[in-house]
Amino acid sequence: MAKKDYYDLLGVDKNVSAEELKKAYRKLAIKYHPDKNPGDKEAEEKFKEIAEAYGVLSDSDKKARYDRFGHEGVGGASGFGGQGGVNMEDIFSQFGDIFGDGSPFGSFFGGGGRSSGGRKAVRKGSDLRIKLKLNVEEIANGVEKKIKVKRYVSCKVCSGNGSKHGTSLQTCGTCQGSGQIRRVQQTMLGQMVTTNTCHTCNGEGKVVLDRCESCFGEGRVLEEDMISIKIPAGVAEGMQLSMSGKGNVPARGGVAGDLLIQIEEEEHAQLKRDGNNIIYDLPLNFVDAVLGKEVEIPVVGGRVKIQIKPGTQAGEVLRLKGKGFKDINGYGTGDQLIYVNIYTPKTVSSEEKSLLEKLRDSPNFQPKASGEGKSIFDKMKDFFK
Ligand SMILES: [Zn+2]
Ligand SMILES: [Zn+2]
Repeated sequence: MAKKDYYDLLGVDKNVSAEELKKAYRKLAIKYHPDKNPGDKEAEEKFKEIAEAYGVLSDSDKKARYDRFGHEGVGGASGFGGQGGVNMEDIFSQFGDIFGDGSPFGSFFGGGGRSSGGRKAVRKGSDLRIKLKLNVEEIANGVEKKIKVKRYVSCKVCSGNGSKHGTSLQTCGTCQGSGQIRRVQQTMLGQMVTTNTCHTCNGEGKVVLDRCESCFGEGRVLEEDMISIKIPAGVAEGMQLSMSGKGNVPARGGVAGDLLIQIEEEEHAQLKRDGNNIIYDLPLNFVDAVLGKEVEIPVVGGRVKIQIKPGTQAGEVLRLKGKGFKDINGYGTGDQLIYVNIYTPKTVSSEEKSLLEKLRDSPNFQPKASGEGKSIFDKMKDFFK
């Protein structure tokens, strides 16, 4: 079965803002929520579809891949996006972000989702983003870069829990450890339970009594970390690599976020990139083009000598096979293409001028329509004679 377009499913267009996207999703999620449509398989299917669509479009990385490659681009990714890989637990786990605490919808779904069964989501720290500039050699061969990043790491003194000497934390007295304050209200629709994050413990359920002096109770410290990044050959401007667990550790325990590395290309003075090919514009002396010559040209990692054949034409493209970039997905290697430009002098001395004047009317210097021999029109004329 063909998958439906994610934008169509949510009824938004490609330029949708994060806020509008959230709004559109919220509206549909309420409409198709299983609690509102008990036993309705179609609604449940629809509910899963919109959750999957939102899962992809709300993630800038996944959205970019989806925009470029469609469903293929996000297939196989963990969680959402994979064929049939959506489960209700995943869907409910994202409601925390969507419906927010304090909104009546938070509690609307609360019963069916996150607060049931004592399933506590593992807290994840924020992602770190860096830009990494690479030169042609590094892109062509791949490279291992050592980079200094400032990131939050777990405090060693308290083992990351924020408490002095690493002693255990106290259960929050305000929320009795649940991290949430529930309030029951009578409304026209019946009883409505509102759940708010406990502000004593910020939803953590535990409080630090005696703060660790090293991290001031945060359980993490900002540190300069040297990270070694392996860049595969063939990356391109705008590509993003990610290293899981190399981002920030959240306060008082949890798993670290990711380090996202955005690739930038350093411009080369003479070599240009065109996909996996390298383009080089070769300015050629007119005499060399006529008589042929060995010339030296730049390539990735140095220079090579190439033979210019006698009678080389302006606009001719020479090819150095396999001298381009390796395809990032393993589909072979590009070439270096050499575009021949014949250099025409703008000024000449009187001596040069007289030499050229001699050649002006010389028979071999008269242009022919296509290289040597007759043009296709000449041949046709011959044919009909
Ligand atoms: Zn500490
Ligand atoms: Zn609390």
